[in-house]
Amino acid sequence: QGSLYVVATPIGNLADISQRALTTLAEVDFICAEDTRNTGRLLRHFDIATPCIAFHDHNEQQKAAAMVERLVAGQNLALVSDAGTPLINDPGYRLVNLCRSSDIQVIPVPGACAAITALSAAGLPTDRFHYEGFFPAKSHARKQTLEALKEQSATLVFYESPHRIVDTLSDIIEVLGADRQLVLARELTKTFETFASKSAGDMLAWVKSDSDQQKGEIVLMIAGFVKDPDAISGEARQTLSLLSQELP
Ligand code: SAM
Repeated sequence: QGSLYVVATPIGNLADISQRALTTLAEVDFICAEDTRNTGRLLRHFDIATPCIAFHDHNEQQKAAAMVERLVAGQNLALVSDAGTPLINDPGYRLVNLCRSSDIQVIPVPGACAAITALSAAGLPTDRFHYEGFFPAKSHARKQTLEALKEQSATLVFYESPHRIVDTLSDIIEVLGADRQLVLARELTKTFETFASKSAGDMLAWVKSDSDQQKGEIVLMIAGFVKDPDAISGEARQTLSLLSQELP
């Protein structure tokens, strides 16, 4: 029986590929790629001639069973996405799930992931973080997502499209307030890598004033909710009011 290798690829800088990823991609029988043209470019860069087959969100369910058949027949297979770690907001879940339930060995070959890369250099607490993937595209749904996370004390990590960043920042201000601290990480590992740490209000003004900040790939991190130590909870307020009625 063969094994499925889940191989992370760079998120921009090709030098970030691991030695183990290169060896694995060169040695497997074939590579399941989110976009065969994109992966083809990566493989050519590293002189790897392993055949690629398309494996994306639209054909994952139907392809997964065929892949498992090949694995059972003894072929080794690598799964890659366009950039970063497969399954992290990328295809592969159904295949890995099916392999696990079919007792096929699944071997991760770790490497870059935009969320972890962003967190590692943002300067926000990382002992606890909440990864949400992409914000919903529509403002109403986005605000509902933010509302549900309003009092989440862990650092929040989102992926966001550059076309929506201005609208999303406006929604953050509306739901979480203009003072909430944010870190915007853009074009990680690439030429125009940028980290900006600002309040939501300042971030919106800055992104609006510089159209370069509305380009490229973005990870947006939101500092977790911090309870105001001076704030009195509703319950405590009620107790105080009852006590004050009893006072002479
Ligand atoms: N599987 C990938 C990973 O491990 O990070 C994520 C894939 S997801 C479809 C693509 C999104 O990840 C982009 O829209 C962006 O939000 C984020 N991303 C990927 N590469 C990035 C980079 N170099 N800089 C900033 N964000 C990046």
